[in-house]
Amino acid sequence: MIKMKNLVVGSGFSGATIARKIAEELNQKVVVIDAKPHVGGNSYDYFDSNNICIHKYGTHIFHTNSKLVWNFLAKFTKWYTYQHKVKGLLDGQYVPIPFNLNSLYQIFPACIANNLEKCLIEKFGFNKKVPILELRKTKDEDLTFLAEYIYQKIFLEYTLKQWGMKPEEIDASVSERVPIYISRDDRYFQDRYQGIPLEGYTKLISNMLDHPNIGVELSTSFSKDMEYEKLFYTGSIDEFFEYKFGQLPYRSIKLDFLEFSYDKFQEAAVINYPCNYDFTRIGEYKWFLNSQANKTVVSYEYPEQFELGKNERYYPIIKDENRILYNKYLELTKDIPNIHFLGRLGDYKYYDMDKAIERALILFENM
Ligand code: UDP
Repeated sequence: MIKMKNLVVGSGFSGATIARKIAEELNQKVVVIDAKPHVGGNSYDYFDSNNICIHKYGTHIFHTNSKLVWNFLAKFTKWYTYQHKVKGLLDGQYVPIPFNLNSLYQIFPACIANNLEKCLIEKFGFNKKVPILELRKTKDEDLTFLAEYIYQKIFLEYTLKQWGMKPEEIDASVSERVPIYISRDDRYFQDRYQGIPLEGYTKLISNMLDHPNIGVELSTSFSKDMEYEKLFYTGSIDEFFEYKFGQLPYRSIKLDFLEFSYDKFQEAAVINYPCNYDFTRIGEYKWFLNSQANKTVVSYEYPEQFELGKNERYYPIIKDENRILYNKYLELTKDIPNIHFLGRLGDYKYYDMDKAIERALILFENM
C-alpha cells in the first residue's frame, strides 16, 4: 500500500478546512476519506425536485463573530444574508426564542410584563444575556417567578427530550447557548456574520476540497492498515481506539421529513415545542434560501441516544464523566506521533460550524 502524505478522515467542516490549508499552503498531497457516500458530514445538504435546499441532518445556520473564519469561507461561497429567528410554542402562543422582552410582553399582561422588564433591567442591565441557570439563582421574588416560568416552559422538557437530562444535570454551557436576552432583538444569534451558503453547504465543502492536491474517497472507512505520514482524524476518538475504555456517549436525532403542497407551513424557519409532543422542533427549509417553490418541506426532530450501527452521532454529551473518558483516550495519542484529532467528534466538543473551522485553522497554524 502506498504511504499517503496526509490522510484526513472525515469530510465535514473540520476535515475540509485542514485538508485545504495543507493542500494550498504546504503544497502537499492530501487524501480525504469519508465513510458516507457524500462530503460535508452532518452539514450535507441537497436541492430537492422543488429546488428547496434540504439539510439532510437537520437545520444548519451559519453564524460567527470570527472575521478570520468568515474571510476563509469567502473563497468558497457567496452567502444569502439570512438572519435566523426561532419561535417556541408557549402557553398556546408562538413567542421569540431565546426568551426576550418581546416574548415577555406576549406572554404576560402588560402590568406584569412592565414590572418584570424593570426588574430584569435593574438587576442585569439592558441588552444583557442571562443564562437560565443564572436567572434561577436570583433571590428577587418577581424574578424568581419569571425564572421558574421560563425554566419550566422552555428549558426543562425540551432538555429532557434533547438530552434525557435536566438542564442542571448537563454542563451549564449547553443551556447557556440560549440565554434569556434582555432586548427586543428577536434573532437567535447576534453574531456579526450570519448566512446560508447560496449554493448550499455541500457545494461550499466541495469547493474547499476542489484542489489539485486533494483526493476525495467516499464510502471509505478508516482502517488500521492505511499508511500515512500524518493523520487528521475527525471521527470519534473511542472508535479509533476500538472502544478499549468503552464508548463515548452521544445524542442523535431522528428526523422525519414531510412535504406539503402549499406555500408555508409555519411562521418561522424553526419552531420549538418545549412542552408539547415528543419532537423538540420543526424546521422548514424554504426559509433558509428564501425559496419560492409552491411546496414546502419540514423536518421534525426526535432526539434519541446514539447507538453504534443504528444512527448517527450528533452531539457529544458534555459532562465531567464523559470528558474524563475522552481525556483517557486522548492520553493514548501522546505516544503516537503525527496524529491529530479534531472536530465535534474528534475533540468531543459541542462546536458550531464556525468553531470547528476555527479549531482546524488554529491547528494548522500550530503544526
Ligand atoms: N434549549 C431549551 N429550549 C429551547 C431551546 C434550547 O431547553 O427552546 C436548550 C436545550 O438543552 C438545547 C440547548 O438549549 O439542547 C441548546 O440549544 P441550541 O438551539 O443551541 O441547540 P442545537 O441547535 O445545537 O441543537
